[in-house]
Amino acid sequence: MFDKSRQQQGAADMASKAKQGKQWSLKDFEIGKPLGRGKFGSVYLAREKESKYIVAIKVLQKSQLLKAGVEHQLRREIEIQSHLRNRHILRMYGYFYDAKRIYLILEYSPGGELFKRLTQKGRFSERTSARYITDLAMALDYCHSKHVIHRDIKPENLLLGAYSEIKIADFGWSVHAPTSRRNTLCGTLDYLPPEMVEGRDHDEKVDVWSLGILLYEFLYGFPPFEAEGHSATYRRISRVDLRFPSKPTVSHEAKDLIRRLLVKDPSKRMALQDIPSHPWVVANTKKV
Ligand code: ATP
Ligand code: MG
Repeated sequence: MFDKSRQQQGAADMASKAKQGKQWSLKDFEIGKPLGRGKFGSVYLAREKESKYIVAIKVLQKSQLLKAGVEHQLRREIEIQSHLRNRHILRMYGYFYDAKRIYLILEYSPGGELFKRLTQKGRFSERTSARYITDLAMALDYCHSKHVIHRDIKPENLLLGAYSEIKIADFGWSVHAPTSRRNTLCGTLDYLPPEMVEGRDHDEKVDVWSLGILLYEFLYGFPPFEAEGHSATYRRISRVDLRFPSKPTVSHEAKDLIRRLLVKDPSKRMALQDIPSHPWVVANTKKV
């Protein structure tokens, strides 16, 4: 069983070992069931033998990383994620490697992927959405205060903790701000802001945009600028062709917040710190 109080003690032990610069190796862990697969390897449930602390270990094949030319990206992911400390950011305790693989020691998120939950439920209630969006806004604000931009906020990169709290994972596309046009476009365009699809310079305001996309998707069950093919999506994003279908019913206040996040001019997008005091958020995060 997943024991929450033991986990808390174990987390403290892991953190102090990480702080002391412990050199981890595969011998320190018992490896359990696979939790998921990523592009470059797999993630397994694991337990640190000494503290019995449950973690997730992401195993990456060096050969695949080299073939794809993403070693620098992985280095950045480790560098950034291991320095962030926030309840809503998946903790990275450390890493180690052998001849063939690189292993990342991650906080285990027992609730699994938010994407899966959203697919199962179709969409989230306004209360659930407001909770997630506020927690994400605060976590991203924390990242930005450390000059880190995530750039890849989407349901696939969000996990749920033991208390159903949202966790930002996967810092593979994050960068230290400010940044220029290079090395961006890959995968789905749906979450990218106009300045990125148009190949202009961008700053931390890109994460505010993706929060708007996410909020829309939480409430409607699909992202706002979906279209057949890259170029049609590109045009809809670039024009901010935002439409609110009549079904499902979504409150005016929620739509107001979405409109304040999905603003073409990055400098005019709402500040993350102002999200918790938006009337819709206030009304939907009140304790009942
Ligand atoms: P991609 O780049 O294709 O998204 P990736 O290599 O970044 O893949 P992740 O997305 O980090 O891999 O992990 C793959 C899957 O493993 C996740 O979608 C999730 O289901 C599961 N997973 C990853 N990390 C954890 C964790 N800490 N706790 C629980 N499950 C996890
Ligand atoms: Mg991923």
